[in-house]
Amino acid sequence: MVTVRLENIEKVFEQKTPSGEVSKVFALKNINLTIIDGETIAVVGPSGCGKSTLLRVIAGLEKATDGNVYFDDKLVNDVEPKDRGIGIVFQNYALYPHFKSKGNLSFFFKLRKTKEEVINERVRVTAETLGVGFEELLNRKPGQLSGGQQQRVALGRCIIKEPTIFLLDEPLSNLDAKLRERTRIELKRLLRRFKVTTFYVTHDQVEAVTLGDRIAVMKSGQILQVAPYREIYKHPVNMFVANFIGLPPMKFLDVKLNGQKLIGEGFEIEISSEVAKAIGDENRKLALGIRPENIEISSNPETGFYKAKIDVIEPLPNEGAKYVYFSYAENAESVAKAELSYEGKVGDTIYVQLDSKKIYIFDKDTEESIVAQDRVFSIVNA
Ligand code: ADP
Ligand code: MG
Repeated sequence: MVTVRLENIEKVFEQKTPSGEVSKVFALKNINLTIIDGETIAVVGPSGCGKSTLLRVIAGLEKATDGNVYFDDKLVNDVEPKDRGIGIVFQNYALYPHFKSKGNLSFFFKLRKTKEEVINERVRVTAETLGVGFEELLNRKPGQLSGGQQQRVALGRCIIKEPTIFLLDEPLSNLDAKLRERTRIELKRLLRRFKVTTFYVTHDQVEAVTLGDRIAVMKSGQILQVAPYREIYKHPVNMFVANFIGLPPMKFLDVKLNGQKLIGEGFEIEISSEVAKAIGDENRKLALGIRPENIEISSNPETGFYKAKIDVIEPLPNEGAKYVYFSYAENAESVAKAELSYEGKVGDTIYVQLDSKKIYIFDKDTEESIVAQDRVFSIVNA
């Protein structure tokens, strides 16, 4: 096992344009990250933010323009990928099409002229690890396997080498929803059992939450926040992270500070003096963030509730909830989480209240967090 440490990693791609000029892509900007021995870090972020590039730098498939990669205390910048003890699984599994699954699993050992009985034993143990139904895949070629089965074989080919680090790049993206769910749980079991240091790239936050001991949120070549899911959910460092983590995402409402109140379009909300002090300036442009689960709906006008109209209702029986999308002013919309038994209908007038202890406040210009769930960030007054 191994602890991976990335220190000030920069990656710049240079491309020649047709006219011969060189254009630069800053794919990774000053990345600092430690993946602790045995933990799984799930990296999430929009397409093109640098997730795969970072994975390839850890693998040694891509050389960083600047910075250092350590495996424990060893600097591995110049170590070949094959000598790094890594196992990689990509989105497109790239199995050898002419080999049966067994051949795919044992290829690495055949190259090294390992004895047949040793190979057979490794294949047997790997098949056992991958669980029910894997044995019967061994005698089929990739063309005779479904997408999910191919991906299991690809995983098998990765773990049979007993890597000290797993690098997985959107391994489930090509699977249909049902299979993705099953394979996600299977992977979780595998990671639990092996406790191998794992770097898991995904754009799917459900995968990230299920598999990651910690989640790293990336944007434009930078890591914005690294923390366990609960911490990111409760205390996102900025609007991007707040919006990226949580389903449906946090909504933002424009507000201004006025004494000890936040005034928005069609509503106002009392805040504590501490929060008002943290905001400080009444001229500051603010975004109030609120999650669906922290909005209460009533069908009657009650004090402290604001009038709104239901636009869309999305029942999610699995979650035991209905999401109620509503508008409360011109171009001002939000969403609340209600019980599955909620009986409101599209077009109904409703009254909503934001839980003032669960609001988030961001500076609209810098997008940085000022207050998260009634926790005032000290940086504001620093
Ligand atoms: P992600 O995996 O998050 O979708 P990537 O790491 O693949 O993002 O890409 C990050 C950025 O680097 C993108 O702008 C992409 O176009 C660019 N990039 C990746 N690989 C290369 C390359 N070999 N040459 C030039 N640009 C590249
Ligand atoms: Mg990618």
